[in-house]
Amino acid sequence: MMSRVLVTGAAGFIGSHLVDALLARGVTVLGLDRRRLGEHPLAGENLATAVTNRLFTPYHLDLATDQLDDVVKGCDTVFHLAARPGVRQSWGGEFLDYAQANVVGTHRLLDACTREGVRRLVVASSSSVYGPADRPSREIDPTCPVSPYGVSKLAAEHLCLAYARRPDSRLSVAALRYFTVYGPRQRPDMLIGRILFAAYTGFPITLYGDGSQRREFTYVSDVVTATLGAAHLDVRAAVINVGGGASVSMRGVIDEAAKVTGRQVPVKVVDAQPGDVPATAADLTRAGRLLGYWPTVGLHEGLARQSAWLVNLSRDRLAAFTS
Ligand code: NAD
Repeated sequence: MMSRVLVTGAAGFIGSHLVDALLARGVTVLGLDRRRLGEHPLAGENLATAVTNRLFTPYHLDLATDQLDDVVKGCDTVFHLAARPGVRQSWGGEFLDYAQANVVGTHRLLDACTREGVRRLVVASSSSVYGPADRPSREIDPTCPVSPYGVSKLAAEHLCLAYARRPDSRLSVAALRYFTVYGPRQRPDMLIGRILFAAYTGFPITLYGDGSQRREFTYVSDVVTATLGAAHLDVRAAVINVGGGASVSMRGVIDEAAKVTGRQVPVKVVDAQPGDVPATAADLTRAGRLLGYWPTVGLHEGLARQSAWLVNLSRDRLAAFTS
């Protein structure tokens, strides 16, 4: 049973959905993020409902630099979703931030969990730890990240597993490899939101390459279901894929978005980018066996829900799509 939990990255896209789901189950939630709610408009919007709930307390902390013991103390479960996401920017000078947030931040959180006797950590890993694959990736497949972001996520995953496997450890770890997540509150740099935005505004979507790249798109409520389930897993250290059940090409998503919105999607084609694998697809056998997980929201339904959310967006959120 969970009674008091910490969610890192609580003000982000997936973290805020997880916070809402935990609060709906009557769990006391401490929400940690380096974005300050009053100052970062998207963070404030993401947690707008949560902050009205007396079971929720936000903490403005940076995992890489701030003291973490006080916020970890007394938590039975830590959901670690905080990270610097995104493949493209990770090649440049901003890698230092990826290393700080994803690697140093994870290490410092693990140290605090160890000192405070936390028993369970669920960490958001990523499909980007796999390299190019010509069939659905299984957790036992060799990892071979092809971007600095993927390298940082694999390092974070290994750190968590190493802490769980220490002979004297009381901490058990479930590392969930999420495959491209979408839905309301999706980060403005991500593809599906940009496609829907293009359909409604005529502001063209930038397509990297010929659009044949395939991605396993996973609706955010399915990701939350798997993440909550992983908190109850009876294993010391596990790695589990969390996918949407089907892999679809970029062109396929654009066509589906046109059907959902009843509008054309203007496209600007540019060269493929380093770090983008031709395809991602998840083998969900282990997720089914350990978590009883199978995705419930298909691409058409998920696009319809994200589209319904998008048409009511705030000025701040809309501005983020064009920046
Ligand atoms: P997001 O950027 O919306 O949320 C991440 C949050 O973490 C942000 O609010 C950010 O401020 C916070 N954060 C970053 N560094 C921090 C630090 N040092 N200290 C405190 N807070 C910090 O991203 P998201 O899309 O919701 O992703 C959540 C998690 O899921 C990440 O770990 C990401 O790597 C992983 N993931 C996401 C996807 C996806 O498709 N969105 C796919 C695979 C894995």
